[in-house]
Amino acid sequence: MSQITKHTSETLQDEIIEWQLNAGEQQIVAKRMPGRYRRLKWFGMSVWLIYFLGPYLRWQGQQAVLLDIPNRQFHIFSMTLYPQDIWMLSLTLLFFAILLAVVSAVAGRVFCGYFCFQTVWTDIYTLIEEWLEGNTPQKQQKFRQEPFSLNKLSRRLTKHSLWMLIALLTGITFSAWFTDAYQLWRDVFALQAHIAVWIALAVFTVFTYGFAGFMREQVCFWLCPYARLQSVMYDQDTVLPAYDVERGEPRGKLQRGQLASGQGSCIDCKLCVAVCPTGIDIRKGQQEGCITCGLCIDACDSVMDKIEQPRGLIRYASHAELVDHQKPQALLLRPRVLVYCTIMLVSLVGVVYGFATLSPTAFTALPERQPLYVQLSDGSIQNRYTLKLLNKQNQPMEVQYRLEAPTGFTLHGVHESYHIEPGQMLQVMALVRREVDMDADGITPLRFVADVINDATIEIYHDSVFIGPATGN
Ligand code: SF4
Ligand code: SF4
Repeated sequence: MSQITKHTSETLQDEIIEWQLNAGEQQIVAKRMPGRYRRLKWFGMSVWLIYFLGPYLRWQGQQAVLLDIPNRQFHIFSMTLYPQDIWMLSLTLLFFAILLAVVSAVAGRVFCGYFCFQTVWTDIYTLIEEWLEGNTPQKQQKFRQEPFSLNKLSRRLTKHSLWMLIALLTGITFSAWFTDAYQLWRDVFALQAHIAVWIALAVFTVFTYGFAGFMREQVCFWLCPYARLQSVMYDQDTVLPAYDVERGEPRGKLQRGQLASGQGSCIDCKLCVAVCPTGIDIRKGQQEGCITCGLCIDACDSVMDKIEQPRGLIRYASHAELVDHQKPQALLLRPRVLVYCTIMLVSLVGVVYGFATLSPTAFTALPERQPLYVQLSDGSIQNRYTLKLLNKQNQPMEVQYRLEAPTGFTLHGVHESYHIEPGQMLQVMALVRREVDMDADGITPLRFVADVINDATIEIYHDSVFIGPATGN
């Protein structure tokens, strides 16, 4: 029986016995090695620079992206989204949620390995620790056991100060997306920031420092809900970092610099384990702790280069490819991927449509229904309407109301013109009267128009109806 058959015939329970479960008793000090996936990880991590630098971007004299919760406005460059546009935000969130699902179905926990704040922050924190206390478990152990000295104290203090600085920056940056970023710094230094800023700062600082500095991979093991959902997103064609058992086994040390006859390609150097940030041995099969960062692939490839064996003993591969020797299935032939992509496409089209047709105003003209109409002393019929006009632009508007309706209908109760500040909602009671003795149906369509005096390119109108007794023929 081949190794692969033997391996796959093991029961799930057998596999679980093989798994390592580090419940925090073992501190992981992962070796850092250069390689393709390490570079990819740096690239993925660099995306977080947007989080730190984004709030300081200015656009037309204002913060380019500002989530102004108190005023219920989201400013994105020259666009402002109001609660009326929240459906676009919902579609955007749906798009990213499904993107996460499709990426997981295709290539596993790519998000965890390359982008997740927990793994990214942990990587930076451990990098600082390695610089100051040693880059192997042995060196760090030796450092810990050293007697107290000024050198040890200064290294410890520097490490924790840098960790705290990153945690504080993380906390302040979070608030900077919700208020003017430059003013925020002034308020923080003057100890005059809003209570919500201090709460956010405290929460983010404590959790960043605790999670990235101390709990590290344990957060992924025990606290992360996304890690728990993985199994329902994977299938036989999901590509994951996997050890090619058939090629690697039986493993054994090199003898006189050579692989012994009948020996597999794995020389049991354990470099793949040494580089793993969650401390697992991928040769024991896929495990809950694997964040699919691919760093074990870089490590094993470097070993294969040295012993002049082809790369890819550990590689991104699917179960179908490794175990069933099938060719990778075309992405769009996989029903799960197809369904996810369709949902993403629909939500993307919705968001693009929303932005393309985003109106600089929101206008409604709602007729009063109690009573439907009144008859005035001169015999004319009157309807009452509530006109609501929201200025969604970043500059003030001057507007004049008028009515488009059949002859005999007139608009009353409104001023000559109105001034509306950015973000302000103007509410006006308007009256429409129908002349005495004119022939009319019970329901007459009409249109309220708001002419923008200072910007003729903006068209604002709302169609409504006039209700009164039918007269004439
Ligand atoms: S790095 Fe490669 S050769 Fe070394 S133990 Fe891991 S799988 Fe085997
Ligand atoms: S087993 Fe490999 S891919 Fe998985 S977490 Fe460890 S290093 Fe990353």
